[in-house]
Amino acid sequence: MVLMQVLNGCTLIRGKITRGVGGHYTVMTADGEFTCHARGLFRKHEITPLVGDLVEISTEGYLLEIMPRKNELNRPKIANIDQVIVTCSVRPAVNFHMLDAFLISCEVQDVPAVLCVNKIDLDPEGSHKEILKMYESAKYRTIAVSAQTKEGLEGLTDILAGKTSIFAGASGVGKSSILNALYPELALATGGLSEKIGRGKHTTRHTQLVQVGEGTYVVDSPGFTSVKVDHIPRRKLQDYYPEFDGHKNECYYVKCIHITEHDCAVQDQVGESIHPARYEQYKNFIQLTKE
Ligand code: GDP
Ligand code: ZN
Repeated sequence: MVLMQVLNGCTLIRGKITRGVGGHYTVMTADGEFTCHARGLFRKHEITPLVGDLVEISTEGYLLEIMPRKNELNRPKIANIDQVIVTCSVRPAVNFHMLDAFLISCEVQDVPAVLCVNKIDLDPEGSHKEILKMYESAKYRTIAVSAQTKEGLEGLTDILAGKTSIFAGASGVGKSSILNALYPELALATGGLSEKIGRGKHTTRHTQLVQVGEGTYVVDSPGFTSVKVDHIPRRKLQDYYPEFDGHKNECYYVKCIHITEHDCAVQDQVGESIHPARYEQYKNFIQLTKE
């Protein structure tokens, strides 16, 4: 991954790729933004620089080195994401199957997930607090917000500070609205429009990282809006449930998948440290996975 170059006394600058279009890369550095070309060497080694890559560039405008990536998302193709803000909305009711699939997908891709419940203005009776509790017991950081009334957005700003984040979640939960409420300059289309436009024939969306604070970046468009879990090997699924840690190795059977086995430490925890609804979804997902 790391390419070394012999440099004849030229200065190297470190930065982060924020945009890449047709072989031109915008790199944000401490000295401002540079536009760079990737060296042919990358192509030869079949390395494609990605938005999010930490790189070294020369003052002449060449991208010379890509630092090892800590992770790589597929949709959109982007590297070194610090956290996915998995978003759901309290009205219409949360689709827990979908929500857990998003969280599993983050675990699979090794990116920390934060659960963000939006539209709390539509939930005056506060039923979203149960959802927060449920996911906190699953060891996720949570936040409740309203893009409309701006309630909770300060807390979300704190969560985003100093990190590179992307919003993900089903269409219509309010990802674009939250981004607009936080950073009006993004001026994203809302009401599901962004995705409709994205599918248009002549509109190629180029994912961009936008610097919104010191060391703080957000992806300027919502990330994945759907995920599949059926490719996950049955015995691996348990590894994507943080709340199973500390219990799953205590079962009688070494190969326990915590469904019908007796003396199962995970099943024993359901209703205790493991939320019954999370466990129910786990059972549903097990049906979808492959042996
Ligand atoms: P996205 O598809 O996840 O990006 O969702 P959008 O941001 O396009 O929002 C979908 C719809 O939900 C729009 O009609 C928004 O006006 C509405 N919406 C977004 N956030 C809120 C909120 O906090 N409260 C209410 N009541 N409606 C919201
Ligand atoms: Zn078990």
